[in-house]
Amino acid sequence: MKLHAGKTVINNCRLFDGTGSAAKESQALHYEDGIITYVGDAATQPESDSPGTTIIECPNLTVMPGLVEAHFHPTYFNVSELADLDIKYPVEYVTLLAAANAKLALECGYTSARSGGSLFNIDVWLKKAINDDVIIGPRLASNGREICGVGGLMDWNPDYRKIGMEGLVLLINGAEEARAAVRQLVKDGVEWVKTYPTGDAAAPDVNDHHTLCMTFEEMHAVVQTAHNHKLKVTGHCRATEGIKNALLAGYDCLEHGTFMDNETMDLLLARDVPVVPALYFELASIENGPAFNMPQAVIDGHQETLDGGTESARRILKEGGRIGLGGDYGFAWNPHGDYAKELSFFVNYVGFSVEETLMCATKTGSEIAGSDDKVGTLELGKLADLLIIDGNPFEDIRIMEDRSKFYAVIQNGIIKAGFSLHS
Ligand SMILES: [Zn+2]
Repeated sequence: MKLHAGKTVINNCRLFDGTGSAAKESQALHYEDGIITYVGDAATQPESDSPGTTIIECPNLTVMPGLVEAHFHPTYFNVSELADLDIKYPVEYVTLLAAANAKLALECGYTSARSGGSLFNIDVWLKKAINDDVIIGPRLASNGREICGVGGLMDWNPDYRKIGMEGLVLLINGAEEARAAVRQLVKDGVEWVKTYPTGDAAAPDVNDHHTLCMTFEEMHAVVQTAHNHKLKVTGHCRATEGIKNALLAGYDCLEHGTFMDNETMDLLLARDVPVVPALYFELASIENGPAFNMPQAVIDGHQETLDGGTESARRILKEGGRIGLGGDYGFAWNPHGDYAKELSFFVNYVGFSVEETLMCATKTGSEIAGSDDKVGTLELGKLADLLIIDGNPFEDIRIMEDRSKFYAVIQNGIIKAGFSLHS
């Protein structure tokens, strides 16, 4: 990804640096060749009268780190039933959709993303296209085809249909096959391995949210093999037992972390494993599901998941754990482009402060994506990945949902989206 050439001064802004301090007024941020060289009071900023310096005057604008979508599925596309994921479109078309979703996420202020699982091996090549400036999109931490036990949540086609699932999921029986699946992903070039330790409200009959879809031995084999090859492991974890198994097996992150008892919470906090609840998805399913003929048993399961997940998220934050925000967008009732609804939801429904929510969506997100040495906070020496908003999210977080209010979305110091591009 190219770096901006030259010097830019963002002057007189409201600035939220993502490090834990509150937003401050009358601030300035300088960057040169894509690297931040000053963050602080506008009154004490170094002079910058060198020729060619770009000066952006920002009264009433808010400058913050670019957002991180920590559970991004660029290859999911208005999925309204599970079969949409495996047989609706060929890999060629899914790849084009993924490129469009990546562009949209960047336009929505998400300068980074950690994938939550990919169809085929598209993420790896999407990341390359973004890094090589072929297309625009978030700085991507790639995932691969997902690993699930045979008969588990992601194995829904009975054998008589003769549908291969190999573009979506690697189905395993036992630790040996778990190891073989990870080795396949190592060759694919992924950074993350996504697994399915548990079921979900979406499958109330045989794989509901209290069902296990992998054994501890399988999960442990995944972690040992992945860590040996320097890959990280995460998993779809709803049932308490599955969360506990993931923590004991050495998972690097938990997706959802829905139903947690005291023992599981203590284990999570002791190991400081981040959790990405992707929780607005549950509310969207409850509110919008009926219009997509979602069965009542599924909606009831989503309600139980919403209640359990909300309680867990509140506890994790209160007790000093780490939460990343990303929303499983790409379903018909929770489409791409709505990413920042997760932020409004965490403020207005879960009860996080705007500052806490934005730190989860920037600093913690970059820690999960493994890019916190480069982005995620506005500090000296970091890359200028910024979002400049025409308004004040600390007055109303919902402005984050309205990309027409984004003055600029900046990666490596280069303005990639926002209305200033066209004015
Ligand atoms: Zn997901």
